[in-house]
Amino acid sequence: MVTEGDATIALAARLMDLLHGASTTTTYKYALLLALIDLCQENVGRRDGPTGSVTTRQVAERVVELYWPQTKQHVRTGKVLRQLSGPKRSIPDLVAEHRGRAPRQATTPHRARLADAAAFEDLIDEVEWVLIRYPIPLLQRLGGEDLAVLYSIRWREDPARGPVRRYQAALRERGTAAGGFDNRLCFLPDVEVRLAALSGLLRPLIRREWTRFVAQCNGDKIEDLEVFLFEPQREDLSACRAPLIELQQGRCFYCDERLNTAVDVDHFLPWSRCGDDGLHNLVAAHARCNNQKSDHLAASAHLSAWRERATKRSGDLVEIARQTATPFHADRSVRLARSMYGGIPAGAPLWKLRDEFEHADRARLVEALGEDAA
Ligand SMILES: [Zn+2]
Repeated sequence: MVTEGDATIALAARLMDLLHGASTTTTYKYALLLALIDLCQENVGRRDGPTGSVTTRQVAERVVELYWPQTKQHVRTGKVLRQLSGPKRSIPDLVAEHRGRAPRQATTPHRARLADAAAFEDLIDEVEWVLIRYPIPLLQRLGGEDLAVLYSIRWREDPARGPVRRYQAALRERGTAAGGFDNRLCFLPDVEVRLAALSGLLRPLIRREWTRFVAQCNGDKIEDLEVFLFEPQREDLSACRAPLIELQQGRCFYCDERLNTAVDVDHFLPWSRCGDDGLHNLVAAHARCNNQKSDHLAASAHLSAWRERATKRSGDLVEIARQTATPFHADRSVRLARSMYGGIPAGAPLWKLRDEFEHADRARLVEALGEDAA
């Protein structure tokens, strides 16, 4: 009998084949896989269950978010790092060119969209078209064979530009995906749940492979390359520090003691586990509490306080997001929390304070999420 655990491990093994097997000339497959993991994690946290598919548009938006911080000029080389072995323009080049034309304050995708929504949608159009042509049809191919371990699509390799252009125009004008192009990646049964379950294992592996490829493309060894590529951008968070401290009445979100000078803006759902940069997911904390929490999920009491803040201070949160040009997507953050806390095994360690942990308890977490046990 094949158990769910066996099936999940088998999927992980097939993904490793895809990551290592096929020769690679770009970092696209890493970006695509990370984007799919992000979207599956979110889908699994939907109240009415996973949707069974994602669209090329959703994938393109996530891929732009992943590449965006990587297209800053690297301090040592003074250039945008190359992510393609060859002379062609790559997705990071498209993002970098967009950043070059955007106003200075457009330091994040959210701010770039606020600065010029139409130009930003043009960028998403271009990135979506590259994804439709190359990595989405090619990701699952190994040795000329389509392994189809994750999803199926309705278009063939080398699709015509016309129908995609018409579909993109319809999407922008009417908000509906018309125009003769089916933009869905339809997941195979249970793939969303399994990808979400594997997130903690796959993310660091994919990041490491991605980093190794960028190092190869850029010649000599670049120190802290993985940090440069994947850590959250501290300067983008700094605008939120003062308003969050005020919202928390000068107290640390975790230990409730007075905040002093060393205050961090912390991602409540760890950045390394989900990449959620919405204001909903940000709290002010002592730098020491933030360091001790590290990449752990917070304990049920913290989860409960986080959910309560979302309900009771929703208006304030929206206002801070507006003032600081920080994205605000409460639904996405809640779905991610549901999926991440729902997916941990009973007894897993959750961080309380200092070096104390509690064992995950399903009933307590359901209550902390503010949901019915059903
Ligand atoms: Zn503290």
